[in-house]
Amino acid sequence: MIIDIARQLALKNYRGGFCFEYECPPGLVLLPSARIEGKVKVEGDYEIYEDDSVGVRLKVSYMLVGQCSYCLENASKLVQSEQDVLFLTEDDGENYSYNGLKLDLTTAVNDAVLFSQPQVLLCGQDCKGIDLN
Ligand SMILES: [Zn+2]
Repeated sequence: MIIDIARQLALKNYRGGFCFEYECPPGLVLLPSARIEGKVKVEGDYEIYEDDSVGVRLKVSYMLVGQCSYCLENASKLVQSEQDVLFLTEDDGENYSYNGLKLDLTTAVNDAVLFSQPQVLLCGQDCKGIDLN
């Protein structure tokens, strides 16, 4: 998931888009009984600014499958999330950074997957949980 910024600058392409599928490391799934089915779809666009910082609009979508957090039936949810992130050529402790030549999106994508996960996975909107009667 690397954008060759140096090459884009040489070509005077200051904006661009990307789209790829990513096999997410299993450790990124927070719910113990859930997993990501298939790959994470990553798309977005970027703009290279005059100081070589790069603004990226990042969209991730993926299918979370597993057990309903309430009733333990099978459950799945399509998670979609969009965010704007900034890559600087120096690490300021707040934004992402890159070396000014090649920008690797992996960390930002992993963070997007992590932060977009729901607290619970439900089989349906109106799941009442386990029926104890
Ligand atoms: Zn349920």
